[in-house]
Amino acid sequence: MPVLFVGHGSPLNAIRENDYTRAVLEMGQTLPQPEAILMVSAHWMTRGSFVTHMPHPKTIHDFSGFPKELFSIQYPAPGSPFLAEMISKQITVPNITLEDSQWGLDHGSWSVLRHLFPKADVPVVQLSLDMRQGAEFHLKLGEQLSFLREESVLIIGSGNVVHNLSAINWDENATPHDWAVEFDEWVKKGIQEQQFIRLAKEVTATNSARLSNPTLEHYYPLLYALGASKSPSHIRFFYEGIHHASLSMRSVILA
Ligand code: ZN
Repeated sequence: MPVLFVGHGSPLNAIRENDYTRAVLEMGQTLPQPEAILMVSAHWMTRGSFVTHMPHPKTIHDFSGFPKELFSIQYPAPGSPFLAEMISKQITVPNITLEDSQWGLDHGSWSVLRHLFPKADVPVVQLSLDMRQGAEFHLKLGEQLSFLREESVLIIGSGNVVHNLSAINWDENATPHDWAVEFDEWVKKGIQEQQFIRLAKEVTATNSARLSNPTLEHYYPLLYALGASKSPSHIRFFYEGIHHASLSMRSVILA
């Protein structure tokens, strides 16, 4: 299985039709059919690492101030207790706890999956982000998850390479901030040159980096995808672009 990182941006992308949603939809049509999906979403932040273990994860509408239409969306994909247990058994450091009741699928997952797998017929498990940990931890845990690719599991990170809500311009096509372009290009180059450790270590090293991610939860899912990709022989950015001046929608497939 390949590995994906998908920029998700505004929750409105779940119901929009634009160049970005078309690119994600087209990507979904070219993917091999997975047995299950492991989603790492920016929106599940925890102390410790958890995986969803329920047979029917609920659709979580974890945002406010958006149109009613968004709150009525359901993504009824089944869960996979089997996959959750496999992850929790195989990886012993860190300890990965099975989660049965608190979570489900947040919008970081379903706003992307809706375009990638519109039929919602592939079981989905979510992995949380242990926010006590630094960038290298997330890269290494991604590496440990790589074995799932041999089990026909599609690993998807969902976040944003650049995510600064305080610098947002609600015009989708607003001119991107210079620092956003600079950091987005740095990440692009780092991915192309497979400098994954550098992308983890230097994520707060420059001004443009710190402005691009004042907090790192939207960046970490990228590190899971890069870690799980090991040494990919094929890298393709299937969407590039910065929405709302400060949200990079850069999305990549690695195989
Ligand atoms: Zn988000």
